[in-house]
Amino acid sequence: MRIIGIVGTKNTGKTVLVTNIVKKLVERGFDVGTVKHTTEGFDIEDRDTWKHKEAGAQVVVGSGDETFLNIGETMELDLIFNLMKYVKELDFVVVEGFKHSRYAKISTSDYKDDLTIKNVDVRDLKPADIESLVDMIENRSFGIYQSLNCKKCGFESCDAFQKAKISGDASKDVKCETEDDNVVLKVDGFAIPMNPFVKSLVKNVVRGMVDSLRKDEYGAHETKRIELLINDEDN
Ligand code: SF4
Repeated sequence: MRIIGIVGTKNTGKTVLVTNIVKKLVERGFDVGTVKHTTEGFDIEDRDTWKHKEAGAQVVVGSGDETFLNIGETMELDLIFNLMKYVKELDFVVVEGFKHSRYAKISTSDYKDDLTIKNVDVRDLKPADIESLVDMIENRSFGIYQSLNCKKCGFESCDAFQKAKISGDASKDVKCETEDDNVVLKVDGFAIPMNPFVKSLVKNVVRGMVDSLRKDEYGAHETKRIELLINDEDN
C-alpha cells in the first residue's frame, strides 16, 4: 500500500486534485483509499449516531450499507493507515492535508519540504499532466515504514531511502522491507528492530498465550491482529 499526500494552502484545489488522482489510479486498475484532514465534525447534528456521541460514547459506529467509525479524537496517520489495511487491501492511499507527514506529497501551493515530489497549479492542469503526475506517484511514492534504519532496502537509512524514492533515483519496485512486517515492537513510540528469530519467538509466544485464553467469549473469534500494550510508567 503506497501513500501520496496532497498538500497546499486553502482553496488551491487540493480536493480537485485528489479526485482526479483517485479517478486515474482507479482507471489504471488500482484499489484506492483516501484520508482527509479536517477540523469540521463529520456527524450531522441530531442524527442518532450524533446523539450517541453527545451522550458520551467515545467510539460510535454507524453501520448499514456503509459503515462509519466516529472516534472523538485525533488519530495518528500511521494508525489510520493500519486500520485501513486491516479492513481492506489497498494499492494506494491518497491523503488530503497532513502536510507534515513523512510520506511523499504533491503540493498545490508553494509549500515544499524534502518529501515534496512536485508543486502544481491545479488551474493549469491538463489531462496529460494528470497522467504524468500519476506516473510519478506510481514510481516515487512509498508505503508505511517503521523507521528502523535496518538497511534491508539497500539504503543506509530510512532518510536515504525516502530521498531516493522522492527524487526518482530508486526504482519503482524498491520498497521498505519492513512495510509488511507482521510483528512490530515499539517502545515509547520508537520502533525497535528484531531479528527473525526473536520475531518468530515473540509471535509464537504471544499467539500461543492468546489462543489459550477464552477470547471467543469477548467477541474475538479469529486472531488476525494482536496488540499488547505494557504501560510501565511507574518504573
Ligand atoms: S527497509 Fe525500511 S526500515 Fe529498513 S532502512 Fe529501508 S526504509 Fe528504513
